[in-house]
Amino acid sequence: MLKKIGFKIDRVRKNYLKALINLEYTESWTMGFPNDYSRNFQVLMLGRAIKRLYKEIELKATTSSFLTINYNMISASEVGNFVFCPVSYSIQKSLLVDEDPESNVELIWDEKKILLDRINAYKKAKNINHAFSSEEMNKIGTLPKSIGYILSSKILQENKKNKKSIIFYNKANDFCGVPDYWLSNNENFVVEEKFTRYNENKVSSENEYLNHKAELLAQMIELDKLGAKNGYIIYWLWNFEKVRYENRVSTDYRLRNVKIHEVKLTPENRKYYNQVILNIRDFNTKKAINFNVNSLKPNKCINCGVSQYCHHKTGLIPQIQLPYNKK
Ligand code: SF4
Repeated sequence: MLKKIGFKIDRVRKNYLKALINLEYTESWTMGFPNDYSRNFQVLMLGRAIKRLYKEIELKATTSSFLTINYNMISASEVGNFVFCPVSYSIQKSLLVDEDPESNVELIWDEKKILLDRINAYKKAKNINHAFSSEEMNKIGTLPKSIGYILSSKILQENKKNKKSIIFYNKANDFCGVPDYWLSNNENFVVEEKFTRYNENKVSSENEYLNHKAELLAQMIELDKLGAKNGYIIYWLWNFEKVRYENRVSTDYRLRNVKIHEVKLTPENRKYYNQVILNIRDFNTKKAINFNVNSLKPNKCINCGVSQYCHHKTGLIPQIQLPYNKK
């Protein structure tokens, strides 16, 4: 099946398969279960991997719908896409994509308790403990300091549940964007809310993901109407856990920790952002850039929301084009 998708290089195919069946993750998923569950979950994960490959083969056999690309206009989320992977940027700029919830867990987590619910819970009780359940507090331990500041802020606009959010434009710079949250607490700021699988490294990590930082910087620098001088990235770290319901035991997503990174408009951050936007505009003009096939990371590709549209993950295509092209 992997060969049918285009994985012709043995090493690349093997690494991708290893990441796909993700035995390490399967083990962590079975944490706390009786031993005899472990085998069943591994079989389940293999089944899911096969289903995913089937879907990808089917999708690649159909003709994708191409979008009319506006090469001048760039959005804040596109900046994030480009930093995450320029191939992802090209795919999302070119094709009408239907992101796969199997690979983009945010699509599932959006159904769960999000920052907006916690802000509303805090507003009612004026108590941070009411924004988190006692079960969550036991797992998290100490909450990040900035959570109180964020929860006690006034919502100027939220783009998580509000279907009529205003899109902000900077016409002079051909730029647009909508932050997840535009908040105010003495001064205006923006928040991006992200969901990621829990592991110890993520808890101890000092740094945010660069694509999230770039997206936030784009909002602060380009969307001057927001008046945002700083921003925060909230990472909700989740895990699958055994959950006891009245008559049964099941697995469900549960919050394990929360990390918050502040992003300021420092000269270094401005310099970093200016280089990113320059690279994107250069790509939009030339409509082709080189792609370093050695930079591919199978675990990243597995968790990429547009992986099923991507031909570059096979390691065979050293150039990226606009509109997206598999050659
Ligand atoms: S699957 Fe991998 S190479 Fe393709 S867009 Fe996603 S991260 Fe980039």
